[in-house]
Amino acid sequence: MNKKDYYEVLGVSKNASDDEIKSAFRKLAKKYHPDISKEANAEEKFKEVQEAYAVLSDPNKRKQYDQFGHAAFSGGQAGGGGFSGFDFSGFDVDLDDILGSMFGRGFGFSSSSRKNARSRGDDLLYHLKLSFEEAVFGCRKDVKINTNVTCPDCNGLGGHDETTCEVCHGSGTITSEQRTILGSFLSKTTCTACGGTGRTFKSRCQTCNGKGRIKKNSTITVKVPSGINTGMRLRVSGKGEAGTNGGSPGDLYLEFEIADHEFFKREEDDIYLTVPLTITEAVLGCKKDIRTLDSVVTLNVKAGTNSGTKQRIRGKGVKNTTSNHTGDMYIIFDVILPDKLSREQKSLFEKLANTNLENSTYTKFQKFVNKR
Ligand SMILES: [Zn+2]
Ligand SMILES: [Zn+2]
Repeated sequence: MNKKDYYEVLGVSKNASDDEIKSAFRKLAKKYHPDISKEANAEEKFKEVQEAYAVLSDPNKRKQYDQFGHAAFSGGQAGGGGFSGFDFSGFDVDLDDILGSMFGRGFGFSSSSRKNARSRGDDLLYHLKLSFEEAVFGCRKDVKINTNVTCPDCNGLGGHDETTCEVCHGSGTITSEQRTILGSFLSKTTCTACGGTGRTFKSRCQTCNGKGRIKKNSTITVKVPSGINTGMRLRVSGKGEAGTNGGSPGDLYLEFEIADHEFFKREEDDIYLTVPLTITEAVLGCKKDIRTLDSVVTLNVKAGTNSGTKQRIRGKGVKNTTSNHTGDMYIIFDVILPDKLSREQKSLFEKLANTNLENSTYTKFQKFVNKR
């Protein structure tokens, strides 16, 4: 194989200065670097450029090359400080530097290089409000979501007429020589043209503009189990964002917020209900209808029931979402005064006031107040 003249490769004259050679190399390295080049045979060109520069940038090697041509470096023919094969020990330009200056600091194309990679779709989090009853008993709920779904026109591929990637010839990777002061090594990088899939498309999908996914409104019906509480999350498998390039979809998470009830209060699986009693109901005792979560029951209120007295009704709480446990219901009595009194009621209270309505707690307190 006839090797190209190193000066021709770099496009400089035989008496080019070191600076001219360096700047020519930088220009060509940018043009042909396999990670970024769009040229057809970039990899091969890039190698030629690197090799030419390695020789011409080193005064000794350049001298030998000028004298002997390529023969200076093939198989031990070089005298003195000659070298053979790929021992480009004089190579001192940092490629990261060149590429870094194009993309800002560092390799800025990591995300674009994954543009075609298969990946799982993102999870979605939606907030869902439930009424107190819906949460306690469970329900079916329609949830409107706007999410990325797989494009139906290209099946998520992003293009039509699939063909082998011309840049990597289907391998998905590009192998290039990296030379450092310590010698050279082979470095494999993901092909940026196809993102490592080895395939490209002749035409881009118009529907999704090549993304493989489109935004879509949809309604899904979710079965919410009984016992849901504020802050709990429910996972709806596979209803998140579509994956890319055949990746599986993410999950949809529903986080619940439960509305307050006018009378019932909920603590975990237990339900609390405050039951107001009139003075006479509290003093004389009564039968009292109250409402549980799912029925009406009659309570026996004992004579002399104070405010704050608690009564438990077993098993009338909330059925737990995950276990078989059902909570209890707690009744808390609250003795309330009448809003207004008729003249007759007022006179009845005045008569009562002249009787002894004390109890032991009352008596104890009076003694404390009167103590000297
Ligand atoms: Zn499409
Ligand atoms: Zn490729």
